[in-house]
Amino acid sequence: MYDYIVIGAGSAGCIVASRLSENPDLHVLLIEAGPPDRQREIHIPAAFSKLFKSPLDWNFTTVPQEHLNGRALYWPRGKMLGGSSSMNAMVYVRGRRSDYDRWRDLGNPGWGFDDVRPYFEAVESKVSVSDQRSINPLSHAFVEACGQCNIARAPSMNGDDEGAGFYRVTQRNGRRSSAADAYLRPALRRGNLTVWTGVHATRLLIDNGRATGVEYVQRGSTGQAHAAREVILCAGAIGSPQLLLLSGIGPREQLEALGIPVVAEVASVGENLQDHPAVVVGFGCTQPISLSNAETIPNFVRYLLRGQGPLTSNVAEAGAFIRTQPECADCDIQFHFAPVHYVEHGLVKPPGHGFSIGPTLVTVESRGRIFLRSVDPFDPPAIDPQYFSNEADLRRLAAGVKVAKKLAMSRAFDPYRGEPVYKIDDEEAHIRVHAETLYHPVGTCAMGSVVDHELRTYGIASLRIADASVMPVIVGGNTQAATMMIAEKASHLIRDVA
Ligand SMILES: Cc1cc2nc3c(=O)[nH]c(=O)nc-3n(C[C@H](O)[C@H](O)[C@H](O)COP(=O)(O)OP(=O)(O)OC[C@H]3O[C@@H](n4cnc5c(N)ncnc54)[C@H](O)[C@@H]3O)c2cc1C
Repeated sequence: MYDYIVIGAGSAGCIVASRLSENPDLHVLLIEAGPPDRQREIHIPAAFSKLFKSPLDWNFTTVPQEHLNGRALYWPRGKMLGGSSSMNAMVYVRGRRSDYDRWRDLGNPGWGFDDVRPYFEAVESKVSVSDQRSINPLSHAFVEACGQCNIARAPSMNGDDEGAGFYRVTQRNGRRSSAADAYLRPALRRGNLTVWTGVHATRLLIDNGRATGVEYVQRGSTGQAHAAREVILCAGAIGSPQLLLLSGIGPREQLEALGIPVVAEVASVGENLQDHPAVVVGFGCTQPISLSNAETIPNFVRYLLRGQGPLTSNVAEAGAFIRTQPECADCDIQFHFAPVHYVEHGLVKPPGHGFSIGPTLVTVESRGRIFLRSVDPFDPPAIDPQYFSNEADLRRLAAGVKVAKKLAMSRAFDPYRGEPVYKIDDEEAHIRVHAETLYHPVGTCAMGSVVDHELRTYGIASLRIADASVMPVIVGGNTQAATMMIAEKASHLIRDVA
């Protein structure tokens, strides 16, 4: 019998398990479906897209998207210790002050920016948030191009300031600093923390309205683990609602249609799905300087011996936050600039060198949902982000594409600009054909409708959720920092009771 069971060793779960096990009197079990994070490509920053569609990737696919010409989009998610923090692009952005103030104003006391700032600081004291070590000349050209298009240098690239610059990254000495590296590894020597990998949680055990443990499958055999105090669900924006639904916690109609006994009727489980869509404006590069030739033996040696060189690149090296309309209260477009071709998540490699400007919509009005296709826990749930179901989203991202085209044509790129990868006459048509996820799904177990402001699940005692799924509204920047902050705050909320 454990005191706490944490399900999912991702960005959030590693933090919660590590923080709870700081108290030697508490016995904590952390369960992860994927393997340990041993593969070399996890730790070499520039190699992250090599993990895509590998056994370390859940390799999800959305349902066909009505507003994207019926395309079904690929959604990678990390399946290993560290979860998506072990395969992401390492950009560290806190998000806007107004994002958190909005969470608070939606009826979630304790989540305004001034309330959560100490938890960001706690994250930053553990995860190494660093300046990049090797910035490509093309990324410098991007920031210069921004200046030529009246986008000034941002005082910080934390999401709150308008302007351009180079992202800070979750790296230590040029290697990825994941939640597993920063939090879990140092905690592993504690005798009161047990970590199971290759263990797939299939159902929560609920007794008389109280979560008492979890059922799981390990190498084909079913087992159960029990928690005396709480179960904390950290399986991410797809895994957490899926497990609730499989356990009979969710909308009555959906559960009954699948023959799942209703344990607690919580109508919003899986609803409110939000993500940041992005689209690439790409060009060839006339000089052999892009990251396409980063994988050389001298670069490997440089990386291994000194943690330096292009293999330390997080690929999305530079960026900018802009307002497409002066009347926008907040920046609605974030750019990610990659000094390399980035076509179909980097899975398609056009010949030669190139660069990619990725306008990303960060003020998102469209809302989607996640729902079960079957009662089989190994059957991925249906993912319907309903991208661009709100027309304003399409108009805004199209405005971002226009700015990206202007940036690409500015003087700073004259020495480098080759042939365009895409001919873009109609920005909206380009989005419909080429938009993809920026990998930021959130909101499917939202605070205020599935969990309360202390992250306790409505209708079930001793069950908290702490991961990207609890964000009521997506933040205006990359989502890992916000998720880690949520996990730090959750740990404090839980320990206050212990
Ligand atoms: C390719 C990619 C690039 C990204 N780039 C960035 C970036 O540069 N900057 C940024 O801020 N954000 C980025 N993100 C987003 C960021 O990584 C996520 O928002 C964040 O990691 C979410 O954390 P989480 O804890 O909610 O989920 P995850 O980190 O995904 O963790 C969930 C964990 O639960 C496990 N799990 C799920 N179901 C089960 C089950 N049934 N049983 C047992 N275990 C289970 C999973 O295997 C996983 O380890 C990126 C994401 C991806 C995928």
